[in-house]
Amino acid sequence: MIVIENVAVATVDASDTYHADGHVVVGDDGRIAAVGPGAAPATEGRRVDGAGCLVTPGLVNTHHHLYQWATRGLALDETLFGWLRTLYPIWGRLDAEIVGAAAGAGLGWLALSGCTTSMDHHYVFPRDGGDVLEAEIEAARRIGLRFHPTRGSMDLGHKDGGLPPDNIVETTDEALRATEAAIDRWHDPSPAAMLQIAVAPCSPFSVTERLMSEAAALARRKGVRLHTHLAETDDEEDFCRERFGCTPVEYAERLGWLGEDVWLAHGVHLDDAAIARLGATGTGVAHCPSSNARLGAGAARVRELLDHRVPVGLGVDGSASQEASHLGEELRQALYTARQRGGPTALKAREALRMGTMGGARCLGRQDDLGSLETGKLADLVLWRLDGLGHAGIDDRLAALVFGPAAPVELALVGGRPVVERGELVNADAETLARDAAGAHRRLLGRQ
Ligand SMILES: [Zn+2]
Repeated sequence: MIVIENVAVATVDASDTYHADGHVVVGDDGRIAAVGPGAAPATEGRRVDGAGCLVTPGLVNTHHHLYQWATRGLALDETLFGWLRTLYPIWGRLDAEIVGAAAGAGLGWLALSGCTTSMDHHYVFPRDGGDVLEAEIEAARRIGLRFHPTRGSMDLGHKDGGLPPDNIVETTDEALRATEAAIDRWHDPSPAAMLQIAVAPCSPFSVTERLMSEAAALARRKGVRLHTHLAETDDEEDFCRERFGCTPVEYAERLGWLGEDVWLAHGVHLDDAAIARLGATGTGVAHCPSSNARLGAGAARVRELLDHRVPVGLGVDGSASQEASHLGEELRQALYTARQRGGPTALKAREALRMGTMGGARCLGRQDDLGSLETGKLADLVLWRLDGLGHAGIDDRLAALVFGPAAPVELALVGGRPVVERGELVNADAETLARDAAGAHRRLLGRQ
C-alpha cells in the first residue's frame, strides 16, 4: 500500500472533483483503493507526505516517434515536407540498437515530465535494421512506463507519387503481414495491460489507399485500435485534393478510418464539416501544439473539437520536430495555443489537464482503467512538487501546474509501482540514457 496524504488532489473525474487537502491510497493490486478529502483512512504501508504538492492522474502521451530522439536538432527551419525530405534518408539507416537508445532516452524523459503511459508511432523499418519494435518495447519495460507502440508502415514511395524515397517503404503485403505478427506477438487486451499494439499506416502521402483500408480491416478483425497522421499541414491538404479529390477527413472516411476505435495525429486543418464528422463518429485527435508550432504547421481548433465532443489527447510528437519532448510542458502550450486563437477563455487549466489525462486515455481506449483518480482505477498518478522557486506562491496549485514552468515530479506511479522519485528515474540512470542516445545520434549521422 502507498498512502499519499496532506496533498491537493485533481481527480479529473466526470465532475472535475478537486480536493485542496486530500489523500490517495494505492492498493497492493496496483489500483486506487481510496481517494478523497481530508486525512487518509488509517492503513498500513508507505506514507508519502504530499505537502506542497498536487497529485493528478499520470499524463498520457498520444503521439510520438521515439526513434527521432536520434535525429534531434536537424532541419530546424523547414516545413513538414521539407523536414521529411531531409530526414528520410537518415532514418533509412536506423537499426535496433539506435532505436533502443533513442526510445530509452525519450521514454525516460517522458517519465520525468509526468507521463505514465505513452504511445509510439514507428513506421520506418529498414530491411537490415533488426527488430526495431522489440527494441523500443524493451526500452519501455526498462523505464517502467505503460506502453502503446503502434506498428506503423509506409508503402507509397517516390516512384508511385509518394513523398518518401523508395528504399524506405515496404510492400503493402509486407506491411500488413508484419503488423498482424506484431499484434499476435505483443498485444495484451487485459484491463491492466502494460503493452498494447495499434495499427498505424503513416500518412496520406506515404501510404496507398489499399494499405489504409486493409489496415483498418485488420485492426477491426483483431480488436485493436487505429492511428495515423491526418490534416497536419496545408501541403497534405493540397496532396489529398490533387490525388484523391477531397479533404483529408473525407479521404479517411471513405477508407473506413473514422470511428471510436481511431485516433488521428494533429487534426490542424479541419473545416467545420470535418470537426462535426469527427464528433459524430467519436474519432479522437492527438493534439501536438509544440510540434505544430515548431514546423509552423498551424494551430488546431481545439475549442471547437472539444465543443463537438471529440476525444482530444495531448502528444509531444516525434523528437525531431519538437526537441523538448516534455509532456508536462504541453499542458501550457495547449492552453496558450487555444488562447492565441480564441482569447483568454478558449481553454481553462482544468481542460488542459483533462486533455493530458482522460482525453489521452480515451484516445488509447483505456478510459475505463486510466485517465482519472477514482477508486478501482489503475494507480497511474503523478505527485507534482509545487512549492519550489518556480511555483511557490502561485495562488492555485492546478494553475501552478499548467500556467507555471515545468513542474518537478516528486513521485510517479505506474500501476502502483514507482518510476520516478524526487525527480530521478527509479529504474534507469538518466546519464547513461543520455550518453547512449548521443552515441546513437553520432553513429546514425556517420560521425564515429
Ligand atoms: Zn507524428
